[in-house]
Amino acid sequence: AKKSGRGRFHLYDPRSGEESRLRQQLEQALRQALLNEQFELHYQPLMDSNRRCIGAEALIRWPSPERGMVAPDRFIPLAEETGMIHAIGDWVLQQALNRLQRWQTELPGFDGYLTINVSPWQFARPDFVTSLHSAIHKSNIPHHRLCLEITEGVLLTDREETIDKLNQLRKLGLMIALDDFGTGYSSLAYLRDLPIDVLKIDRSFISDLQLEAPRHLVDAIISIGRHMNIKTVAEGVETEPQWSHLKSMGCDSFQGYLFSPALNAEAFSRWIRQHQP
Ligand code: C2E
Ligand code: CA
Ligand code: CA
Ligand code: CA
Repeated sequence: AKKSGRGRFHLYDPRSGEESRLRQQLEQALRQALLNEQFELHYQPLMDSNRRCIGAEALIRWPSPERGMVAPDRFIPLAEETGMIHAIGDWVLQQALNRLQRWQTELPGFDGYLTINVSPWQFARPDFVTSLHSAIHKSNIPHHRLCLEITEGVLLTDREETIDKLNQLRKLGLMIALDDFGTGYSSLAYLRDLPIDVLKIDRSFISDLQLEAPRHLVDAIISIGRHMNIKTVAEGVETEPQWSHLKSMGCDSFQGYLFSPALNAEAFSRWIRQHQP
């Protein structure tokens, strides 16, 4: 087995033979998608404990004319390996800001925030903070309406610099969420070191909530959050029992198919008008 760039193992070299050919085709198609603006941003509601929508997570979609809907789990890693993630990330940010602007006029009663996923590669760019700041400034969106979701991957580069950037972003008024908490190698040390506002408890814990060990872990994560003044969000809430259980443990917000999947912009607006006119 060979170790590939980002620490994943492949049974054979991904750059040889059939797999390599498919990968090159996908890469080519992804470049075209970027040029032709084939991507869409969809929005999944974030709920509070009164079942009110307090925001949405922006999730990228690639409806490819040739391949059908390509899942982000399939093309984001490729975009990261090829550097296309920078252009995609810029597109996502601009799209998100445009959407927030439209919500201000189309959904005046909705003052929720929009949270976007930021790849560690984007975050590592030296000009990340300044270019983000100027984009937000131009759009005239209050900084607190935007939240950035980062993963433990941001710590793979310079640790001090990462923390410094996070502090700068928070000073600007942006919210920072630590995504997928509990997966990978994430540890309590991240909570100690990283200045964050929100902790997203990974879906895998929520789906196992009926089991004793995951339940205790989720309970512990929520109470750590409370003590550290960090809001907790449960991802992948699919059932009423999961929801009421999480509420009773003091979880702050909730996201999952129980409330809604990610919706395209039009469907999201309709959903908001229906649920909180
Ligand atoms: P994520 O950030 O952890 O996003 C949550 C994923 O869980 C989304 O998958 C969402 O559709 C799915 N999900 C939400 N509720 C439920 C539920 O109740 N049950 C189940 N089974 N799944 C649920 P999606 O949209 O396929 O995104 C997959 C991953 O791709 C994301 O995971 C994120 O890591 C990445 N991604 C998506 N959009 C972007 C983007 O704009 N930029 C970057 N860098 N990464 C993105
Ligand atoms: Ca996320
Ligand atoms: Ca997540
Ligand atoms: Ca994930």
